[in-house]
Amino acid sequence: MPSTDDIAQPQVVEDPGAPIDGHTRIEELSTATEEEESEPSSDSEDDDGMNVHGWMGAKVPGKVPGKVPALYTTRPILKDELVTPTSIAQDKVVEEVLPFMSGKDPEILELNSHGLPALLRRKHIKFCQYGLGKFPSQFQAMDASRPWLLYWNLAAMSFLGEDLGRWRERVIQTFTPMQNPDGGFGGGHGQLSHCAASYAATLSLALVGGLDIVDRRTMWQWLGSVKQKDGGFAMAIGGEEDVRGAYCAMTIHSLLNLPMELPPNSPARVNGDETFLTNLGEWISSCQTYEGGIGSAPDNEAHGAYAFCSLACLCLMDAPHKSINKWLNVPKLLAWLSSRQQAPEGGFQGRTNKLVDACYSHWVGGCWALLEAAIAGPGKHEEFSLCDREGLVRYTLCCSQQKKGGLRDKPSCRADGYHTCYSLAGLSAAQNHYYYEEKEEAVMSNGLTAAFKWRCTRVTPEQRAKLAFDEGDTVGLVHPVFVIPPEFVERTRKQFQDKVGF
Ligand SMILES: [Zn+2]
Repeated sequence: MPSTDDIAQPQVVEDPGAPIDGHTRIEELSTATEEEESEPSSDSEDDDGMNVHGWMGAKVPGKVPGKVPALYTTRPILKDELVTPTSIAQDKVVEEVLPFMSGKDPEILELNSHGLPALLRRKHIKFCQYGLGKFPSQFQAMDASRPWLLYWNLAAMSFLGEDLGRWRERVIQTFTPMQNPDGGFGGGHGQLSHCAASYAATLSLALVGGLDIVDRRTMWQWLGSVKQKDGGFAMAIGGEEDVRGAYCAMTIHSLLNLPMELPPNSPARVNGDETFLTNLGEWISSCQTYEGGIGSAPDNEAHGAYAFCSLACLCLMDAPHKSINKWLNVPKLLAWLSSRQQAPEGGFQGRTNKLVDACYSHWVGGCWALLEAAIAGPGKHEEFSLCDREGLVRYTLCCSQQKKGGLRDKPSCRADGYHTCYSLAGLSAAQNHYYYEEKEEAVMSNGLTAAFKWRCTRVTPEQRAKLAFDEGDTVGLVHPVFVIPPEFVERTRKQFQDKVGF
């Protein structure tokens, strides 16, 4: 592993108690742009000093950028004449991404056979390995985010096909003291149990086959203690109630095959409710806004990350064609989600009038498989797509990749673990096919089986060609609900499927 001093890569800070959206959203530790920062010296052999924008400078004889469809190289024809801070910021982003999308620079690095930048797999893996090392003292503020750092970097490496066996013991050692006697995981030893930390810990342990260390009984009791009287979940005891809590809690509940009955200590139980699902659909339904998107809680602004949390939670509760159609206005949600994809950028924004950002490649890009399954019904997997997959592939390969490894919000931002994980998850959503199918063999003794019935398939070479990527640019399958590779979901299901009680 590298020493702490030569880790120049940035990471992100998340206060697990803070909502994901704009006002207190995940915040960059460093606000410096990529160009202002020093690069890790280990890659200096690739740098001829001309790489001001990452792709520019390296020379690959005989390879030229391919012909790019006008959609990705042309400014929108219709433009509101009103100039606002938002419109100015948007114009600046288009200015920034057009050279990357259009491949105008003649010296673009490592092109695939379609003329797009190739996926820098080894460099991204190396970036994630740095992210699992020690951090210098200025990263102290990230202490409560350790479960996330592990999850983002481990998950990203798994999406890239890297074996995680070598990390297993360290991951288990890291998480063992983080589970509190009350059952939940904190961000570190002695920290308050929290749904976000518990979610990231559970998924990280699932990735390395370490879930044996989780005390399922106390976890069940703790999850019950954050289930609220109105059907939703709080992020922590006494914490805010929002759709992240519902998705995180039900993900943990589902993977560990915990009993459906609420424990006696649950505030909802005191209210007369009986199970973890009581009034949950009604509560999520109340978060859909007048725009058609979904807010963190009733009356909050619609936001891509909350849309994913809500849809995925509904898919944990039941089959998508049942639960999503029952609890959400699908046509309105479809219209709102469709409006999040930007042109010429090809990527997604998170909210109305916001800028493209690669983390929404997952938060919005990951919604499509769930929504398409709700619309198509079980077992139907016509290769239709309600979003522009090619646009998302192009944005990820052209704009999100940092030359030194890692993926970023947009070209003027530095890469970090959070954007690396969710850019790659979004790329997988664009590259592969995910659909729901009733599978008899996928059972859990608690009856919560829907999320285990997804099928994931790779695209054919012909489909790849239409989407402008090569086999070497393909990321692995990512389970559309659990956001880890499906083989780890299945391994976990088999581990716990027969548990009755504890
Ligand atoms: Zn972002």
